[in-house]
Amino acid sequence: MKAKDIHKVTIIGAGFVGSTTAYTLMLSGLFSELVLIDVNETKARGEAMDLNHGIPFAKPIKIYQGTYADSKGSDLVIITAGANQREGETRMDLVHKNTSVFRDIIRQLLKYIHSGDTLLLVVTNPVDVLTYVTWKLSGFPAGHVLGSGTVLDTARFRYLIGEHVGVDTRNIHGYILGEHGDSELPAWSLTSIAGMPIDVYCRISGECRDDRTRDELFNHVKNAAYEIIKAKGATYFAVALAVQRISEAIMRDENSILTVSSVLKGQYGLNDLAISVPTIVGREGIKRVIEAPVSEKEMNLLRKSADTLKNIIKELKL
Ligand code: NAD
Repeated sequence: MKAKDIHKVTIIGAGFVGSTTAYTLMLSGLFSELVLIDVNETKARGEAMDLNHGIPFAKPIKIYQGTYADSKGSDLVIITAGANQREGETRMDLVHKNTSVFRDIIRQLLKYIHSGDTLLLVVTNPVDVLTYVTWKLSGFPAGHVLGSGTVLDTARFRYLIGEHVGVDTRNIHGYILGEHGDSELPAWSLTSIAGMPIDVYCRISGECRDDRTRDELFNHVKNAAYEIIKAKGATYFAVALAVQRISEAIMRDENSILTVSSVLKGQYGLNDLAISVPTIVGREGIKRVIEAPVSEKEMNLLRKSADTLKNIIKELKL
């Protein structure tokens, strides 16, 4: 195989999210080489062994536990390392712990990867703040640093609407915008089914109930991680599929519209923070941040969510 045909991904953090992501990527066939890096080398080695034994049932791929030097030549580096939310903790509670983990990770990575060759995808929480931290510390162009943002929340939103109206989730279009966390918001004004605004679909189908149901549905989206963590300690299956979806949009240059988090440059009047809005994602990373005409109420909520993130960023003194 010629070197240029190798598609390589490095996953930093081989915990619940990192190892499940390795599993979804192994099945995806998107990569020919996958490196797992973790401070707990034994854990990463064990995960690599376990994954390797499944290769005869998947597609050929080289998976191994590595050091930062092994990240050289990666098309994509996915960061899932750091502390996760404990029961009762918000994503923002993790900010100081995980920012110092990121200082170390980015410093080590920069010895081996370069802007222009590699895209960075942040998954660790609080993901928007850490996407901004990664952009700042790496010096990469803004379009080359992505956060998984509200891609997962948007999937939860579409799933719950689909369940509510009895329609395949793939036919539900809609987005969760803002912080991946407590200040996120549903963009009902952009939500459609069968090409119709959701209000029109509800009128003709008679399937939807009142506004209270909408609020309940959104609260389920917003609180999903808390509920899952209470029940099983961590969330990882759906987020790993969300990361696979983002990786696919990148590696296959799909120009897919996803609510990844990225550093905004004046879109929606917002600057100098990373936040999720509908964004075109392809091989070069962020191709375009779409400025959708959201309602005034939604715009106010988006500004509030941005203020929450900016206040945290200010505290970090990067
Ligand atoms: P985990 O504790 O299972 O795994 C974290 C791993 O990071 C551990 O294996 C640990 O050894 C490793 N690690 C810690 N410091 C490191 C360092 N300096 N260098 C390399 N590795 C290091 O946690 P998890 O459940 O996998 O969650 C990981 C992160 O993903 C958390 O921040 C969690 O909140 C986040 N998460 C994000 C989303 C999302 O939608 N963005 C969804 C779920 C979880």
